[in-house]
Amino acid sequence: MNQENVAEEAAAQRPAARSGEALYSGGVGKSRSKIVAFKFGGSSLLGAERMFHAARLVREAAEVSRVAVVVSAMKGVTDHLLSIEKALAAGKLPYARREAEVVLELHLEVLQDLRLDEETDRHVRHELQLLGCDLAHEVLGRDQTAASAEFSDRLASFGERFSARLFAAALQRLEVASVPVSSSDFVLTCDTFRDAQPHLEQTKFRGQRILLPLLKQGAVPVVTGFIGATSDGRITTLGRNSSDFSGAIVAHVVDADELVIWTDVDGIYTANPQESAEARLLHELSYDEAHALAASGAKVLHPKVLPLAAESEMVVWVRNTFNPQARGTRIGPANEFPGELPPMAQGGAA
Ligand code: ASP
Ligand code: MG
Repeated sequence: MNQENVAEEAAAQRPAARSGEALYSGGVGKSRSKIVAFKFGGSSLLGAERMFHAARLVREAAEVSRVAVVVSAMKGVTDHLLSIEKALAAGKLPYARREAEVVLELHLEVLQDLRLDEETDRHVRHELQLLGCDLAHEVLGRDQTAASAEFSDRLASFGERFSARLFAAALQRLEVASVPVSSSDFVLTCDTFRDAQPHLEQTKFRGQRILLPLLKQGAVPVVTGFIGATSDGRITTLGRNSSDFSGAIVAHVVDADELVIWTDVDGIYTANPQESAEARLLHELSYDEAHALAASGAKVLHPKVLPLAAESEMVVWVRNTFNPQARGTRIGPANEFPGELPPMAQGGAA
């Protein structure tokens, strides 16, 4: 266990979750046996307006299913955090300190724009400020002799930790009971910092103990993508752009029927739609077809998503947050959708 809030603690502090009642109409008492995992990329979470838009997609789904959410950092934030590391390495401490403040301010501005009620605002502001203090301490206390990959993962982890708190707050504002959960409390990894491999069996065991009670209560866990922790509690990351993979891990943990990767394109295409007028949206793919596309160099999904999805037999959807009317691309078990493998695809996570 690390210093992050454990879900139980957070649940105890949040009135809506503590009551154990989902507040959306018709939620309580319905069986909602289907479980879905939603993963939102950084561009889907950039600012309060986009957060509310994404939160409405969750609210709609939560009326008929149990929903677990996985979030990336807001777009650009991870790069920002990693620039602090570079500044420190170059001996530019004042610049690094200022950058850390900027990251906190950026999230406080989004909080302001969420216009929460006074009590919730105070609570979330306090949480963000605590994260900001931790970040400032990391920057000030940087021991130049410490391993840099480990330090870089600790720095990079703040983006998702900030965004999960804000997104949970956006859901609360829409009267969807939600709890921010730090994946480092259950995603157990090796200590290859910057590219840590999860131990899936232990992660599932630990994650179920945190996530299933929340889902049962009708609360939406909002889980940080990208990060895990070693068995002795040191924060790791699964590599850049790995929060799709985190989405699949969380979906696997809760035995989700479906994983929806919400991104900023309509799905997976036969070619890059920005570059080719011939580009055609692929509606249905088998795991093998999608995997072959990825192996041929097309930007489809993080390479570890499909093997895990196939193993867990969950359907993966790639859908556009900004065009939710579009059906997106469905990736499922083989044979259901016989067809030719298209020559090249373009799509992927925001
Ligand atoms: N925030 C992380 C990154 O920028 C993970 C992700 O977005 O998938 O690499
Ligand atoms: Mg991303």
